Amino acid sequence: MLSSAFLTIALAVAAFAHPARQLSAKVITSCSVPNTAALTFDDGPWKYSEQIVDTLDARGIKATFFVNGDNYGCIYGDAQAQALKNAYSKGHQIASHTWAHKDLATLSRDEVDSEFTGVDKALESILGVKVAFVRPPFGSYSADVLQVAAEHGQNVIIWDFDSGDGSGVSPARSKSRYDKLVASHPNTILALNHETYVTTATTVLPHAIEELQDAGYELVTVADCLGLSPYLSVGNAGTNDVCL
Ligand SMILES: [Zn+2]
Repeated sequence: MLSSAFLTIALAVAAFAHPARQLSAKVITSCSVPNTAALTFDDGPWKYSEQIVDTLDARGIKATFFVNGDNYGCIYGDAQAQALKNAYSKGHQIASHTWAHKDLATLSRDEVDSEFTGVDKALESILGVKVAFVRPPFGSYSADVLQVAAEHGQNVIIWDFDSGDGSGVSPARSKSRYDKLVASHPNTILALNHETYVTTATTVLPHAIEELQDAGYELVTVADCLGLSPYLSVGNAGTNDVCL
C-alpha cells in the first residue's frame, strides 16, 4: 500500500512538473531534396494566376500557391475559385496563406484558429483537399500559431529567397536578385513571389525560370522539394460557401 501511494504521489508530481506538451508544427525554411527549387506565389487567388500557370506549364514545371480566403478577392468568387481549380487541376500545389492576411502573431489563439479554419474549409469545398502546408502572412508566427498549425496537421513554410515583389522591389531588381541567387548556386531554393503583381507574371517569372533551369535546378512544388505529401486528404469538392 505504501509503495502504491508513493507511486501515485510520484506520478502526480511528475505530471505537475511535466504538463502535457502541446504539439508544435515544424517550421521549414528550405527545401531538402538536393538540386530542387520551389517557386511559391502568395496572396491569391487573383487575376494573374492563369497566366502564371500557363508560363509554368509551358516550361513543364510545377509551383506552389499559398492562397488567402479574403485578401485581393474572396476565395469563393467565381474567378477566384476558377483560378484555384485551374492551378490545382494542372498539378500545381495549393496551400494555405490563412484567411485575411493578418499578422497571426498579434492574434489570440482562437482568432488564429479561425484564420486557419476559413481557408482549410474553402479549399476542402472548392477543391476537395485538406492542405498539408501553411505559410503565415509576413512569415510571422508565435507559439500559438505553431500549435494551431499542428492541430490542423500542417507544416509551416517560410522561404530562403525573396524576389521582393511584395515589398516594392522593381521587376528589374527582382530579376537581378534571381541572377545573384543563381550565381551563388545554393543547394536548394525556396523562393517567395506574389501572384498579385502583373510584372511578376509577365517579367520576373519567365526570367527566373530560365535562369534556374539553365543552372540545372529541378523546379518543383514545395511538397516535392521536401519529399512530403501536399495534402492530408484528397476527396470530392463540395458546395461553395460565400464570403461575407
Ligand atoms: Zn502574403
